[in-house]
Amino acid sequence: MIDLHTHSTASDGTLTPEALVELAAKKKLTAIALTDHDTVAGVPRAVEAGRKAGVEVVPGVEVSVDSERGAVHLLGYFVRPDDPSLQAKLAQWCQARQQRARRIVERLEELGIGISYAQVAELAGSESIGRPHVARVLLGAKAVRSVEEAFERYLRRGRPAYVPREMPEAAEAIALIRSAGGVAVLAHPATLALKGTDLEARVKELHALGLDGLEVHWSGHSMRQRRDLLALAKKLSLLVTGGSDFHGDNKPGIQLGSGRRGNVRVAESVLEALRRRCTLSI
Ligand code: AMP
Ligand code: FE
Ligand code: FE
Ligand code: ZN
Repeated sequence: MIDLHTHSTASDGTLTPEALVELAAKKKLTAIALTDHDTVAGVPRAVEAGRKAGVEVVPGVEVSVDSERGAVHLLGYFVRPDDPSLQAKLAQWCQARQQRARRIVERLEELGIGISYAQVAELAGSESIGRPHVARVLLGAKAVRSVEEAFERYLRRGRPAYVPREMPEAAEAIALIRSAGGVAVLAHPATLALKGTDLEARVKELHALGLDGLEVHWSGHSMRQRRDLLALAKKLSLLVTGGSDFHGDNKPGIQLGSGRRGNVRVAESVLEALRRRCTLSI
């Protein structure tokens, strides 16, 4: 079994790239993709750890793009981590993340919650600062009892400390992933909050921009959603991928290599199909 959607301390996961790979080895996964938000900083460390542990590590990234209903996530697999355009854009997007985190802290202050940006940056320990880092500082300050509660009360869209972030259009993100030698996959399509023909129309648009696949098997998708997405992928000749979206303790319900109900099983053949697509487009 493999897991093509994981996060490390290089973004908002709680395991270091090395610890993530060790856990994968312990769980007898043969491959994982490291897909941190807007950064590939953890990739070299994970690849090296994978070499030692006998786990293939696919270089990956998860980028956020704008959509009418909030952020949409795109996964890039087999990107070259040292590609100069990729590096430059990711650095820009991480800066936007840092700016937003400062503004979130200001909002929280207005709400009477005294945490500092320095605390958030220190806890993040990476360029890619996300709301889960703010949530964990809030937890540490006993302002909330869980990361989940921090999102529900303050951080999610519509809540008082929500601050939007500057994000690229899908066209730019897909082109960037492909120009860095990668394959572009729409992450957890259910979070688009579209159904039926609306979902199909949006996926077709992305397909026209160079999208290669759909993340059908994801820990938060119901069986019905998976069945519908599988049919859509077949219809549009898109690759089918899957992964848990493991974030360590930031999302305690999600295990590496499996979903909430232990039902994200992704076969090695998925990785072979991605690899083939990637070499074909070189
Ligand atoms: P950001 O990247 O800063 O916009 O934060 C989004 C990240 O927060 C997602 O990638 C998830 O890891 C996490 N997240 C979003 N909603 C929740 C939630 N309700 N509870 C816990 N984590 C969440
Ligand atoms: Fe995340
Ligand atoms: Fe995501
Ligand atoms: Zn993710």
